[in-house]
Amino acid sequence: MKCPYCNHTFALTWKEYFWEARGHHNCVACKSRFKLLCSWSYLAITVLIALIIAGLAMFLVARWTHSRIAAVGGLVIVLVVLLALDRWLDDHWRKSAPLEPDEPKT
Ligand SMILES: [Zn+2]
Repeated sequence: MKCPYCNHTFALTWKEYFWEARGHHNCVACKSRFKLLCSWSYLAITVLIALIIAGLAMFLVARWTHSRIAAVGGLVIVLVVLLALDRWLDDHWRKSAPLEPDEPKT
């Protein structure tokens, strides 16, 4: 992530990813609070990859186990992969911006 105030670049940790689910973060250098922007390209890429991974995982699990119920269990694997992907996109893809004056600082 890149701080919009001081341009310091730092890595998004798993703790920060889960703790700041709204996409608001503190810069580790200047301690300013900023947000990650949610663009249409970010949403489109996330949904597209989620559909591809979910479909592939369900197909492979159903093929290996010959059970449609087990295929639904494959969604757990998909969820883990998607969380890792979403964190990577937050860290490398999404642009950051200062918080608006009327936005809550939490
Ligand atoms: Zn900063």
